[in-house]
Amino acid sequence: MDLVIRNACPAERPGEGPLDIGVEGGRIAAIGRDFAAAESYDARGRLVCGGLIETHIHLDKSRIADRVPPPQGRRVNPVTMTAPLKQHFTVEDVYARAEATLRECLVNGTTRLRTQLEIDPAVELRSFEAMRSLADDYKWAIDLEICVFPQDGLTNYPGTEELLVAALMQGAPVLGGAPRYDSDARAQIERIFALARKYDVDLDLHLDVGDDPTQMHIYQVLELTERYKRGGRVVAGHMAKFSLLPPAELAALARRLADAGIAVTVLPATDLYLMGRERDHAIVRGVADANLLAANGVTCSLSSNNILNAATPYGDCNLIRMANLHANVLQVAAPADLRALFGMLTDQSARLLNLKDYGLAPGNPADLVVIDAATPEQAIAEIRPPLAVWKRGRRTVTRHPPELHPPA
Ligand SMILES: [Zn+2]
Repeated sequence: MDLVIRNACPAERPGEGPLDIGVEGGRIAAIGRDFAAAESYDARGRLVCGGLIETHIHLDKSRIADRVPPPQGRRVNPVTMTAPLKQHFTVEDVYARAEATLRECLVNGTTRLRTQLEIDPAVELRSFEAMRSLADDYKWAIDLEICVFPQDGLTNYPGTEELLVAALMQGAPVLGGAPRYDSDARAQIERIFALARKYDVDLDLHLDVGDDPTQMHIYQVLELTERYKRGGRVVAGHMAKFSLLPPAELAALARRLADAGIAVTVLPATDLYLMGRERDHAIVRGVADANLLAANGVTCSLSSNNILNAATPYGDCNLIRMANLHANVLQVAAPADLRALFGMLTDQSARLLNLKDYGLAPGNPADLVVIDAATPEQAIAEIRPPLAVWKRGRRTVTRHPPELHPPA
């Protein structure tokens, strides 16, 4: 074999291990004990997974917090704050910011990623061009998939649909939406489903952020997913309004989503930053309970969404931190529930993205991350860092654990 990761605790095989993971020709060849290999890495009983997966991040508009004025008062609209900047985005500017963010994703153990990407007459296809170059330049470290979407409206913004179609024709595999920012939200959702059918692409929509849970677009998305038999190919991101529903009502709705094949990405950082701004005290938290959704059969992931922009002026692309944030806000403590959250950065995210070759199994690409923890629940509870990352069997990242130097 080319490589063996020795003494690994595979995240997907709790209780088994430590085991050796053997790699040959960029793929996992076998999982067992005592393999001979040209190169070896001793994981010393640490957790190993098939790479973390960022299912929802905006690389194209990351790192622009310094271009927007500080918010005045509690009410903010990140979309109208950002829209005027977009005409000034050049291919080089988008590439440089997205690259800086992508490199943070890499050092935090991410090996697969779906980026949301805005397309409209202000930015045209410049961000798309930058992202395609970036995906190509970094394919040694990450599989980067592009989801194109209209952030500033579709039905109210002439020229947007033509540009989206151009991107789909050039190979964008996923189409998104943001009906909240369309003057006719229902019409946008109808149109997005029509385009997804015509170009046979998956859907990944921004949905149901706001303070009124009696007005939710998820019901229309459910109806269209069932009518057009798109089950397994539809993702709803945010779903912050779920946090305003009583648990029994949410559980019933979750079972409908699970039956329809609609997955949910929860984005704790942005929802915490944006929700509840209609109040000046006893602020609602606004983060959907991913554990409850998953317990009712919904495929869920947790992701970073925005990094250093008007919608979230924070971020270090650390998915394990995102799961810890979710646990903290939702008051999740049971080891099994923390373990479920780890799954929402790994195997459940792979399922949401319809990846067929993810995970620690012979034949899959040798995407491997050693995390400085003994178990998934420890990784989440303590925000433990990755120490080493391989993409298709090649070492892409090394991080050293900190050392103390007591006096001799
Ligand atoms: Zn988003």
